[in-house]
Amino acid sequence: KATRSIEAGLLFYSEEMNQRAKEHMRIEGELRQALLNGELLLYYQPKVSLRSGRIVGAEALLRWRHPVRGLVSPGVFIPVAEETGLILELGSWVLEAACRQIREWQDANLIMPPIAVNLSARQFDSKLPQRIAAVLERYSVQPEQINLEITESLLVRGADAVIAIMNELRAMGMGLALDDFGTGYSSLAYLKKFPISTLKIDRSFVIGLPHEENDCAIARAIVTMAQQLRQEIVAEGVETAEQMNFLRELGCDQLQGYLFSQPVPAADFASMLRDGKRLTLGARLPPA
Ligand code: C2E
Ligand code: MG
Ligand code: MG
Ligand code: MG
Repeated sequence: KATRSIEAGLLFYSEEMNQRAKEHMRIEGELRQALLNGELLLYYQPKVSLRSGRIVGAEALLRWRHPVRGLVSPGVFIPVAEETGLILELGSWVLEAACRQIREWQDANLIMPPIAVNLSARQFDSKLPQRIAAVLERYSVQPEQINLEITESLLVRGADAVIAIMNELRAMGMGLALDDFGTGYSSLAYLKKFPISTLKIDRSFVIGLPHEENDCAIARAIVTMAQQLRQEIVAEGVETAEQMNFLRELGCDQLQGYLFSQPVPAADFASMLRDGKRLTLGARLPPA
């Protein structure tokens, strides 16, 4: 009987894996189609200065307008794209779309802050700087208009080759941000080896501010370290004025989160820029 139930379990397990594999294959196929059919688009989420309340940047976030399932979030399809390698094509599409958009905005005389684009670790090879340079040139976009967001997994893989590529990108004039900081496995000391201009504190530490003692301690440590390394600090996922005030008192530079705005379609972001939409900073807290 025991054997039977183990067998049943294995069967069930492999059936589940089979389902998952099928689901992934279906998504992959549909994604390829999506690239061809123009179902992909970029949303933009503003980053605001905690000193001035002004928009000082934005992150381009990929969206998929599926003909049947509607707007699909990247949480669903990016992991599949990473697994299948399709992320390389998606990544190129994103970079191209962001540059085309920046060109369009600049042609419309909008004063553009830098736009951040997320990069997968798989895109990070020795040809990356050339590939980006070609796209920038095609749209006459200055490298200073682009920030690249990368995750810690890249640092862990982190041989000298990765550092060399990062140095090249920085030398071209692009900002490099470390995304979701604190969720990976890189040690703090490790960080100084990498030419990173910006640290993004992950949303998971922001959620508990200012009530969770541990989150406060982590946020404080990250900000202190980043200041020492002369890196800019962006807090992700800021949803409340309380969180904002705490982060501002810590000396965090920028905020990105629903408190100011969700990611929005390009036209809405352009309106925010045009209208000079600002974050209400409120009364300053007395120093702690
Ligand atoms: P990320 O790069 O860390 O982007 C921030 C995510 O946090 C976005 O989710 C954004 O909508 C969400 N977010 C921002 N503020 C708040 C907030 O106040 N509350 C909450 N609950 N969420 C907030 P999104 O757009 O679903 O993207 C998820 C992830 O997918 C991104 O995380 C990034 O890792 C990946 N991704 C998105 N676009 C691209 C892309 O073009 N290329 C690559 N390689 N990855 C991408
Ligand atoms: Mg990001
Ligand atoms: Mg992030
Ligand atoms: Mg994140």
